[in-house]
Amino acid sequence: MIPLSKPDIQEGEVARVCEVLRSGVLSLGARLREFEDKFAAYTGTRFAVATSSGTAALHLAVRALHIGSGDEVITTSFSFVASTNCLLYERAMPRFIDIDPETLNLDPRAVRAFLEGKCTVAGRQVLDRQTGRRVKAILPVHVFGLPCNMEALSEIATEFHLALIEDACEAIGATYAGRKVGTFGDIGTFAFYPNKQMTTGEGGMIVTDNERIACLCRSMCNQGRDDTVGWLQHSRLGYNYRMSDVHAAIGLAQLERINDLLAAREQVAQRYTESLREERALKLPVSAPQCRRSWFVYPVRVAGDKHFRDDVITRLRANGVGCQAYFPPIHRQSYISELVPQATADLPHTQRAADTSLALPFFSSMTEAQVQEVCEQLDRVLRQPTRISLAA
Ligand SMILES: *Cc1c(COP(=O)(O)O)cnc(C)c1O
Repeated sequence: MIPLSKPDIQEGEVARVCEVLRSGVLSLGARLREFEDKFAAYTGTRFAVATSSGTAALHLAVRALHIGSGDEVITTSFSFVASTNCLLYERAMPRFIDIDPETLNLDPRAVRAFLEGKCTVAGRQVLDRQTGRRVKAILPVHVFGLPCNMEALSEIATEFHLALIEDACEAIGATYAGRKVGTFGDIGTFAFYPNKQMTTGEGGMIVTDNERIACLCRSMCNQGRDDTVGWLQHSRLGYNYRMSDVHAAIGLAQLERINDLLAAREQVAQRYTESLREERALKLPVSAPQCRRSWFVYPVRVAGDKHFRDDVITRLRANGVGCQAYFPPIHRQSYISELVPQATADLPHTQRAADTSLALPFFSSMTEAQVQEVCEQLDRVLRQPTRISLAA
């Protein structure tokens, strides 16, 4: 079986974890601070606050920007659920806007069309005429590691006085116009689950240049404590969203190798692209102007309908190839229709991408032979018509 993903753990990670375990300081220690400092330096932001997950980072971002009940946030449905759940935790509503059918990222033209056509601007307030809610922010997701058009989105955010939260959880190291993603918004978030480009087991990170936001996030992350007050003095409602030093140690070892990790993934992606270039029935991942992708997964799209795509997945799996339909759109998740009444909105590009995409096995240590094996299996599956596609 060739797995869909696999973390890249070496002796350096093991050694650093052992060092922390032997030190006796397992939380709020020197390794945590060091990881945050080095992550901020890597991304090019003034501050970084480590969290227990990418989802926790997103939740704190929403709270730090005072987004809550009665507010609406422009975002994409073609994403992992966490980018919308973080709004729902605070009783804010997602306003799903369609994606660009090529890049699969939030389409700035559609965002602008919504703001200009469906909203009323009064001073610094933007009201969604359909829901009566105040539009507070834009939350773009750099889907599959390809940066969104941050020039256009930043311009829109400034023009309409909207906050900007970048979900960079799939895009560590990716750049737009030479600048790392996560640094364009008021807040950027990253995630370190084991299928991401770098991992801490579980973990996440908030980055920002705003000192007030950084302090607020650090406090909320640590039960609402402020640095200056005692352990049982809590200045605000907080959470335990801390990353332990054990996890930070893994992160430090991974961050030391991040350029190698990303380069190895890029090479795997290139091998896939070379091998699959001639497949007529496949659409391969695209690049976009000014963008340097950080390879999270290798997503392909099939020429066919959802049944065909699902059948391709079933048959690949039966032949030992781990693959996954990426993403089922958020607005079609069963619980969303209850929580978000207007979620049935028309999102044709999102729906089409969701119906035809699949992610192939993809990890830094994937060998050339493994890539060949996946491509051969895929070629065979695409050539054998299924009963379903014959009937269709
Ligand atoms: C992975 C991911 C997250 C955060 O996931 P966690 O598992 O909570 O670390 C958030 N948004 C997107 C788009 C992701 O892919």
